[in-house]
Amino acid sequence: MKPETKQFRSKAAQTLANKSVLQSLDHVYTGFHEGRLSAAADTPNWEELRTKGKAIKDHTIAHLDYYLGLLADNVEKSGGHVFFANDAEEARLHIVKLARARDVKTVIKSKSMVSEEMALADALIGQGIEAVETDLGEYIIQLAGETPYHLIAPAIHKSRKEVAALLNDDFSEGDPVPDPTELTMSARAKLRGVFERADMSVTGVNFAIAESGSIALVTNEGNGRMSTSVPRIHVAVMGMEKIIPSIQDLSTMLRILIRSATGQRITAYITMINGPRKPEEEEGPEEFHLVIMNNGRDKLLADPQMRESLNCIRCGACLNACPVYRKVGGHAYGWVYPGPIGAIVSPVMTGLKDAHDLPNASSLCGACHEVCPVKINIPRMLLELRWRTAEGKVDPDDRASSVKERVIWKAWRMGMMGRRRFDLGARLSRLLMRPISKRGWIRKAPPPISGWTSTRDFPLVASKSLKERLAAREKHGRAKPGQTNRDRP
Ligand code: SF4
Repeated sequence: MKPETKQFRSKAAQTLANKSVLQSLDHVYTGFHEGRLSAAADTPNWEELRTKGKAIKDHTIAHLDYYLGLLADNVEKSGGHVFFANDAEEARLHIVKLARARDVKTVIKSKSMVSEEMALADALIGQGIEAVETDLGEYIIQLAGETPYHLIAPAIHKSRKEVAALLNDDFSEGDPVPDPTELTMSARAKLRGVFERADMSVTGVNFAIAESGSIALVTNEGNGRMSTSVPRIHVAVMGMEKIIPSIQDLSTMLRILIRSATGQRITAYITMINGPRKPEEEEGPEEFHLVIMNNGRDKLLADPQMRESLNCIRCGACLNACPVYRKVGGHAYGWVYPGPIGAIVSPVMTGLKDAHDLPNASSLCGACHEVCPVKINIPRMLLELRWRTAEGKVDPDDRASSVKERVIWKAWRMGMMGRRRFDLGARLSRLLMRPISKRGWIRKAPPPISGWTSTRDFPLVASKSLKERLAAREKHGRAKPGQTNRDRP
């Protein structure tokens, strides 16, 4: 998928103007976030589990080369094939080539953000191969010709009416809108035939277990299990960080993933795959392929300040808790991964130069850090990326792009370094602001600070500093009953 991170502001503005999408986005808070809170409260050792989850991921990422080697050996021992792809193109070409070599006519896809990175469905369709998403949300998105809006709820922004129009060719404006069960049954009927004729499936991987060479898939629809048992070839795709050492670790990771993602205690399906069908087994694919993709993850790994982001288990809890995501929506982030974690991984994986607005799309309230099941300190990394932008570290060939920002922050730092400078700066600001203010407020600031007043008024700098006010208060004594702050010096 081609990054469109540069368009963050315009896409965010589009969402802010769309009431129906904003209403849908409220559901991620009232549904997923509140569900997560209740699931966490009902789990007595919740904090212990989070600490354990973080320790498992810290350890695995610190020994990633060892565990990836162990995983590949064990997948091959089980009769599977492993392919390491350095980037999305390599991975995509490998899968397309495999499909053509095996004369595949239909591919069914189960939800996978890594396959979105590869734009795999379009590549297969471009080769004349039918490629159909089978997760309901992904299917809706595919019909709409869009990309996922949320890590676990790809079509969260679509209204019931929009879904009805996408699923039912005969649906027209004014028709009664079917209920969600009816809509699901209609999608199910359409997908059933596709499952039956599919010769290959492509699924994601929630966790790959190094010691056994297994992959674990967590789903709430039957499509994951159908995809891994009906077609003759199964291709699982994963980012190289989606690995854990052992089955014991899986037990911890499943508990924190499921509760954090949907607020459920357990999902409807947990599917474990160990290579292709064995001679004594009645069902399962004849071939199993595991594609392990880098695609810029090595940049995160090589960066001590950003490495922690590889601990992400893609639960989506930080999106649900984020007040900014719930207003700007998933498409504003311009690449596969939206929300607070997307504001870190997208700039590093696709380039901070175009994506430098993303780390600024945060109030730094810390809600993402608080909810993350593996305790990723997202605000720390957002600040680090902001600092890199302000210091002109965005792109060594294009330092000019951040000159304005650096000048502003340097001036701010100088002003904050001493009391006198601060007071002088405040007086100067008030003097400069006064001609453009009205009754103590600025409604339209000039560039380069015009963005501040595009959606709200900006107050004029106070005539007296807090220090001066306190000194005056000491001098004149405390307020008398009935006297307001405005009446006081
Ligand atoms: S950063 Fe944490 S909360 Fe956000 S998706 Fe990843 S694991 Fe979940």
